[in-house]
Amino acid sequence: MTVPTGLSDRRRPLENPASTLDFKEAAGEERSMTPSDFSLAEVAVALPVDGTFHYLIPPGLNDRIKPGLRVLVPFGRRLVTGYVLGRLESSGRGRRPSGPIGPELKEIARVLDEEPFFGADLLDLFRFVSGYYHYPLGQVIAEALPTGLKVESLRRASITAAGREALDRPNLTGKEADFLKRLVRAGGLSLARLSREKGEILSLLRRFEGLGWAVVETHLSRDRVKPRSQTWLSPARTADKDRVRLGGRERELLDLLAKQGPTAADDLRPGFPTLNLMIPRLIGKGLLLTEDRILYRDDLGRALTFTRGAPELTEEQVRAVSALTAALERGRFAPFVLRGITGSGKTEVYLAAARQALDRGRTVLYLVPEISLTPALEGLLNARFQEEAAILHSGLSEGRRYDQWLKIIHRKARLVLGARSAVFAPLADPGLIIVDEEHDGAYKQEDKLKYQARDLALYRGRQHEAVVVLGSATPSLESFQAARSGRYHLLTLTERPGPGNLPRVDVVDLRFASGRRRTALTPMLKTALAETLAQGRQALLFINRRGLAGLALCLNCGYVVRCLNCSVALTPHQAPAADGRPGLILGCHHCGLEMKPPEQCPECRSGLVRYLGWGTERVENEVRKAFPEARVGRLDADTARPKGELTRILAGLRDQALDVLVGTQMVTKGHDFPHITLVGVIEADLGLHLPDFRAAERGFQLLAQVAGRTGRGQDPGRVIIQTYSPEHYTLLLARKHDYLGFFQQEIEQRLAAGYPPFTRLALVRFQGNSESVTASLARAAAESGRRLVQTSPRPGLDILGPAPAPLAKVKGRHRFQILVRSPKVKTLHAFLRDWLEQVRPTLKGQAVSLSLDVDPYHMM
Ligand code: ADP
Ligand code: ZN
Ligand code: ZN
Repeated sequence: MTVPTGLSDRRRPLENPASTLDFKEAAGEERSMTPSDFSLAEVAVALPVDGTFHYLIPPGLNDRIKPGLRVLVPFGRRLVTGYVLGRLESSGRGRRPSGPIGPELKEIARVLDEEPFFGADLLDLFRFVSGYYHYPLGQVIAEALPTGLKVESLRRASITAAGREALDRPNLTGKEADFLKRLVRAGGLSLARLSREKGEILSLLRRFEGLGWAVVETHLSRDRVKPRSQTWLSPARTADKDRVRLGGRERELLDLLAKQGPTAADDLRPGFPTLNLMIPRLIGKGLLLTEDRILYRDDLGRALTFTRGAPELTEEQVRAVSALTAALERGRFAPFVLRGITGSGKTEVYLAAARQALDRGRTVLYLVPEISLTPALEGLLNARFQEEAAILHSGLSEGRRYDQWLKIIHRKARLVLGARSAVFAPLADPGLIIVDEEHDGAYKQEDKLKYQARDLALYRGRQHEAVVVLGSATPSLESFQAARSGRYHLLTLTERPGPGNLPRVDVVDLRFASGRRRTALTPMLKTALAETLAQGRQALLFINRRGLAGLALCLNCGYVVRCLNCSVALTPHQAPAADGRPGLILGCHHCGLEMKPPEQCPECRSGLVRYLGWGTERVENEVRKAFPEARVGRLDADTARPKGELTRILAGLRDQALDVLVGTQMVTKGHDFPHITLVGVIEADLGLHLPDFRAAERGFQLLAQVAGRTGRGQDPGRVIIQTYSPEHYTLLLARKHDYLGFFQQEIEQRLAAGYPPFTRLALVRFQGNSESVTASLARAAAESGRRLVQTSPRPGLDILGPAPAPLAKVKGRHRFQILVRSPKVKTLHAFLRDWLEQVRPTLKGQAVSLSLDVDPYHMM
């Protein structure tokens, strides 16, 4: 595929036709240049525009402009954040932009950073991502960098002295007087806000500007995060403190510093309350030196620490580690799939390989699917490695994330642990890239830039000649097929190292287990829970739905209470009612709509609206009722929302402060708690029958993962799966822990149906408020795609749809989708490029948006 090269896309910034206000850009005057005295910077702007742009480097900034810096550039009538990609000099070597160099080129307005945020290798990655996901380069960079790194210009209108005088004029209209008074009151008014108001407020403002009564100026949004630095003190070596007269406290301070070396002033202040006065005096006497050091804020305080020494590796582990070490030794790109059953000790393999990479002077990138897994691992890394680790995930505050990023750039951290977005970490020379639980859907970003971090990890591996390990008990069909066909190396761990074995799995058929009142705890599960509690062990209950129940349904006429904005049933949740007693609320998990449950059915007026199905809340209630003495916790998106709660709940499990934990798929991932001996799956069918070709794969992976949470310690584990479809092959094979059997069956179906890994897909989704307009634009797009295929043949490529998305409406927007499928990735991307170029203009001025999902993971 080709990626925008900048030169070929050279354009000058567009004027923004929507904005009619005139004001002076902060960028200053335009100058006419002779072709011999310019320096240009190629810049990608953080806006939805294709291509990159060239800006003049003002002589004053000449020394500072380097690739990887953020700058502010004029674009249309705004100033926007841009990223410097490279420089072009008029003199000397090489490339010169074609076309006129003249007054139409604008200047860079400001440099935002002292030092670059990314180097040539990350830029290469960004260009690849931009080309592969057909996403503007500047926006790729904006999303890859920590979020605190975006600066925007704000335009504000304010009144002038002449404007204040004008207030006294008798001939002002009411509107004019009101607006002038408002400007006086407000001090300044944001243009973004004014333009959302109705009426002729903007034309009034323009008139005031013409009269000199008001001005519009550009300000920068606060550049929120800055590196934090700390002052460190040390004694000046050359000084002779006996020749100078010193106070007692001053002498004490100098003695302390002489003894313990450079110390942070913040740490001394408690002992020396007048430190701030002492510092300048001692500097003046030539006895003290100060130095500013960057303070990298991080969250180490929250880490869950496991004091766990390195065990002696099993034979299988040793074999895996030596294969990885040999590959590191060769120093070439080498992709591996590490398939190890749950609890087989994959983590130890990663850690041993990481040691090898670090010892060879290279760095390590360690990706995990969930931030809930980072605290435990962080503790482990701290215990095992001397090297500083950096942690990157979306749960960190902006400031911390920025600090971690800096720490990596400054090469203070050679090991990076993080979730999906850490694949963009600015690590120099990674030698080992670990993708743990590589099958996990969390590696796919589902909005904006819809990238797959596992695939990008492989790209980075190729870039850096690194070893890439994709680890899982249940590898994705894509990865395992690649391993089976020999494109990746396969490593296997078939046993648990300790006394633990894979748990026994029993299946309960829910169709026959129903009583008059359905309970989430069938007799088998209830008995097993009682035994587990009696033995003082722990149980995990998994249900893949948060809330109280599945839906609110009228038993009389079948009416289901649905969301007004989305095509889904509302989920009943517990909520404290006005009188403080437990009440109920119906909520939408897509748009956040909440409503009180209807007292009567809106259709038939019966009072028979009931809540059907199970959610985490109902299961929790049932466990509490059945076992009042048990300590029960719940882990789902609702309970984990407050900061720190997730770690607290997991720590509760680790410290055995909890007997039973009820949760959604958050409990299924990677956790290693030795005292869990029972896992109950309340309703295994949820998700299994969705209209998505990956439904079975996801179902199998979930069951295998949740089952894998038990039997990790001394005591044997047990799994009870409750289901309405016990004969489904997914359940039959999960019951036997038969990944290979599942893979075989599933891969044949993929081949027969023409789905990945045998084809490549792109999902194009149209969304708009009007169902008919959205549908007709999607239809036209599909037709133009088919014509394109006819005029220039694209072997094997087919276009399916448009069809309403399985989730046909979300947040009031109707969704139609077209699926493009091709056996060859090249054909797919060449087609997408040509086709999108035709389709995007047809959406101009329409209230319909288009989003592209390359290698979609969810088809909903
Ligand atoms: P996985 O990620 O493969 O599911 P883990 O890496 O979480 O498994 O390991 C499961 C447990 O086995 C952990 O408690 C770990 O400390 C332990 N373990 C790993 N390797 C060994 C070994 N060689 N000897 C003893 N215990 C081990
Ligand atoms: Zn009804
Ligand atoms: Zn909704």
